[in-house]
Amino acid sequence: MIKVGLIYTDEYQKYNFGKEHPLRPLRLKLTYSLMEKLHLLDNPILEIFSPRLATKQELERVHSSEYIEIVKKLSKNPNESTIHPYIYGLGPGDNPIFKGMYEASALICGASIIAADKVWNDENFTIAFNPAGGLHHAQKSKASGFCIFNDIAVAIHYLKTLKKDIRIAYLDIDCHHGDGVQWLFYNDPKVLTVSYHQSGKYLFPGSGDVNEIGDEKGKGYSLNFPLLPDTSNKMFMKLFRRTIPKILEAYSPDILFTQLGVDTYFNDPLTQMGFSISIYRDIAQTIKTCSRNYCQNKWVAVGGGGYLITVVPRAWTLFLAKMLDIDLENKLPDSWIKEIKEQVPYEDTPYLLWDRNDKTELLLLKYPEVAKKMLDYNNSLIKICEEKYLPSLTKA
Ligand SMILES: [Zn+2]
Repeated sequence: MIKVGLIYTDEYQKYNFGKEHPLRPLRLKLTYSLMEKLHLLDNPILEIFSPRLATKQELERVHSSEYIEIVKKLSKNPNESTIHPYIYGLGPGDNPIFKGMYEASALICGASIIAADKVWNDENFTIAFNPAGGLHHAQKSKASGFCIFNDIAVAIHYLKTLKKDIRIAYLDIDCHHGDGVQWLFYNDPKVLTVSYHQSGKYLFPGSGDVNEIGDEKGKGYSLNFPLLPDTSNKMFMKLFRRTIPKILEAYSPDILFTQLGVDTYFNDPLTQMGFSISIYRDIAQTIKTCSRNYCQNKWVAVGGGGYLITVVPRAWTLFLAKMLDIDLENKLPDSWIKEIKEQVPYEDTPYLLWDRNDKTELLLLKYPEVAKKMLDYNNSLIKICEEKYLPSLTKA
C-alpha cells in the first residue's frame, strides 16, 4: 500500500510573531480546514501524524549551542535584558521575540523530522507533508526572514544519521531564495540544493545568483534559477519542466525534499511574481513524476512562504490532492467560504479553488517586447542548466 502522511497539530498556531506580522499561523488552520471539507483527510491512503518537539541534540546538528540557548532564554523571558537579540537576528522587525518561541520552533523541526522519518523508514509511505515547515532562511546562529530554526536542515541532518552517505536532493520553489539551506550545505555534495525564486536583484534575501554553485567538494551541487518579476505560469512551467527532471535524473538522489512556498502568487503582498493558483497543481504533478522516476519514490514536502490567507490553503490543498492522486473540481465548499468571510474579512473572498492570472497575461499581451525579453531570459536559464549545471552533476 502506498500511503501519504500529513503532519499536523493545532499547536502550530503557537509559532506566532503577533498580529501585525505577515506570517500568520491562521493560514495553516484554514489549510487543514479546507483539506478536511474537501474530504482529503478521510482518504484511505492518508494518515495524519502529530509532531513532537525536536530535541536539543537534533537542533545542535544545525544550530550553534549558543544560539539555541539564547532562543531558549528569550522564549522563557522575552524581556531578558542581558542579551542583545539583534546579534542573533531577533527583535522588532522580521523576527520579533515572543514567549514560547523555542517550543513553537522546535515543534516545527520535530514535524519535519517525522515527515522525513515516515518516508525513509516506513516502506508504506512514499510521501509525507509538513505544511508548517519550510523555514529555509534560518542560519547556524541567526534567525532570518521569519525563520528561527531551520526545520529543513534539521530534518536533512536527521536523515543523514539514518544512512551513511545518503544523497538528498533539496528543491525550493518559494519566491525567496532558499539561502539558509544552501549555505548550510554549500560544501556538501551529498545534499544537492536547487532553488527557483524571484531574483535577488529585486527581493530578499538578495542571494541565489547563477554563480552560487557550491564550494570545495560541494562545487556544482548548489543550483539557482533567479526569475524575473512577473514571470507567468506558462513561462515558469516551461523552464521547470525543461530543467528539474534532468537535474534529478542526473543526481539520482536517495530521497527528495521539497520546500513548497507559494508566495510566488501574483497578488502576494511581499513579492512580485506572476503565478496563479492552478500552477501549483502542475508543479505538484512534475514533482510527483520526478520523485517516482528519479528519487526512489521518496518525497518529503514542507510548506514555506505565502502571505495571502485565502491563497495558501487553496494552493497546498492542490498539492495534497495531487499527492493523493485526487482530481478536485474547481469549487470551494460553502462552509469554507463562510469560514474565510468570518476569519479573513480583510481579503477578497474567493469562490473557486483555483484561478487565472489575467493581470500578468494581459500585461504580456499588451507589451510583447517585455514578453520577448522574459522568454529570452528564461531560455538563457535553460541554457545555463544544460551547459553549466548538468555536465558537472555526477552522482557524488
Ligand atoms: Zn518566501
